[in-house]
Amino acid sequence: MTRAYFSLGTNLGCRALYLSLGVRMMSLNEVSRTSRVYRSAPVGGVAQDDFWNLILEVDTLATPHELLARAQAAEVAAQRTREVRWGPRTLDVDIVWIDGVVCDDDELTVPHPRMYERNFVLVPLRELREDLVENDVLADADGVVSVLGTLETLL
Ligand code: ATP
Ligand code: CA
Ligand code: CA
Repeated sequence: MTRAYFSLGTNLGCRALYLSLGVRMMSLNEVSRTSRVYRSAPVGGVAQDDFWNLILEVDTLATPHELLARAQAAEVAAQRTREVRWGPRTLDVDIVWIDGVVCDDDELTVPHPRMYERNFVLVPLRELREDLVENDVLADADGVVSVLGTLETLL
């Protein structure tokens, strides 16, 4: 059993519903918990609506590549399309961290290579795992995030 952390983000359509779909598809029947939902300004320079982001923790027997396949299935279920890199999307699911796992191949890099740059990852991750996000790490990250509330209250 390993403990894995996923960053879920959405900025198209009914954002609470897409986050909820993502949480269900990533956790299946496994034990899980979620951070609160945060609003964040988009990164990457493409003009688009704000994102809603959360971190999901799952205790899982799945391998890292099985988790990536699960993430891609969740994005397909949300009818995600890819037109521009870092452009608007109904659902993005990234594997941020898996306890005890380091992986870097053509399909998967864990820990996520850009997690430490992003407040929309670090701020909700810290709610669940303070030890993974030290103060100086947080001080070096970018982006304004503001809390919206728990996913349940936004549905
Ligand atoms: P970013 O990675 O900067 O957040 P993005 O999420 O918009 O950008 P995508 O188009 O969703 O990028 O993903 C591109 C590819 O990244 C995927 O096809 C996947 O194989 C690969 N990838 C590598 N590491 C990871 C990871 N830790 N989690 C999710 N996808 C990953
Ligand atoms: Ca991403
Ligand atoms: Ca992604």
